[in-house]
Amino acid sequence: MEHRTPTEGTVKQLYGTAWRCGEPSCTKPLYRLNDDTGEYILNSRIAHIHARSQGGPRWDPDMSEAANRDASNLIPLCETHAWEIDQTPQHFTADMLREWKKKQLAEYQTVQRSWTLTDAEVTDVVTVSFTTLEERLLGGIYAAAESARQEERRQRQRSLIADMVHAANSWTDTMQVLTISSARNGWKTRDIIEWVNTDSGRAMASNRELIKSNARKLRFETRHPDLLAALDAAETAMGNLEVYEPVWSGSPTKAEERTVIYRHLNHVKRLFLDLEQIGIKVLADPPPEGTP
Ligand SMILES: [Zn+2]
Repeated sequence: MEHRTPTEGTVKQLYGTAWRCGEPSCTKPLYRLNDDTGEYILNSRIAHIHARSQGGPRWDPDMSEAANRDASNLIPLCETHAWEIDQTPQHFTADMLREWKKKQLAEYQTVQRSWTLTDAEVTDVVTVSFTTLEERLLGGIYAAAESARQEERRQRQRSLIADMVHAANSWTDTMQVLTISSARNGWKTRDIIEWVNTDSGRAMASNRELIKSNARKLRFETRHPDLLAALDAAETAMGNLEVYEPVWSGSPTKAEERTVIYRHLNHVKRLFLDLEQIGIKVLADPPPEGTP
């Protein structure tokens, strides 16, 4: 006899109300930071106070399935302690583990630190906590976790691109307005410098920053040649500030100078729209399995 594993909601609840291993003297956090990559790596498992399977550690034959998979019967522990309490259950009674659990929750109440898990992370936790290595290798559970992770990656890349396109549009629109008013009012360099400190000037600067930083993140996330090529083209055009020289150095009074600037702004916009289109294509959801 075996109860079902805890629900996703329960897994999120457990990590959402704990920061470190439930063994009161253990300082290991449930996720550890990899200093080299900056990534958080799962460093823990969910342990059962009363086992999920008949004959398992602290198995309680009178316990209902609902009670067995409830958060009150579960405790997040570091890998060492999760292993230890099930290997030598005679040293770790249910009452003792309930006491650990109480302390873990009390600590959360005080420090308010915990982990917010994504759906892919829940799948990881369920996989390492409730399946044997053999089941993992045979059952395609890794494949499910991997496809959830890929979906999250695609979503992240889509939103990086959408934010960049939005920022580029806003930047080029403001640049156009700036060019017009600079020409109309006969602005000099001093006026431009003043303008840089207005809300519009600051918005332009922050849009450029956003584009730079999202481009960096996107390069880190994707190796797709079409996407990288579109990103390079858009960023290079965006970085070509010489085109606006007439605006900075005085006013672009000549119509031809303004035409060059407008044409370039349209070019920048077009390249970011291309990036968006290519992103939509490259990051489309894969067809469901089994379709030809
Ligand atoms: Zn521990």
